[in-house]
Amino acid sequence: MLVVFIGDGILTKQNGDQLANFYHCRTCNELLAVGCTINGQLRGAVNPNLLQDVNQLGNPIQIQPRLLSAGEKIERWDKLWGVLNGL
Ligand SMILES: [Zn+2]
Repeated sequence: MLVVFIGDGILTKQNGDQLANFYHCRTCNELLAVGCTINGQLRGAVNPNLLQDVNQLGNPIQIQPRLLSAGEKIERWDKLWGVLNGL
């Protein structure tokens, strides 16, 4: 999936271990996507609650990111996340 952000109303926040960026709508503070630069490329995932045809996605995967080390998180994101553009 290719995600392109348009407009300039995005607020970037970081998580506890500063690995990932959380992109929020500047107007309503809704979480839009999460992302991280991996091997020089911005990768990430969109908030599925915002999608109209969310049932076209696969089943959600339950994860416990707190149990993963920083290296394990990056490795996991590299496998799962798509490319983000426009941020
Ligand atoms: Zn908004």
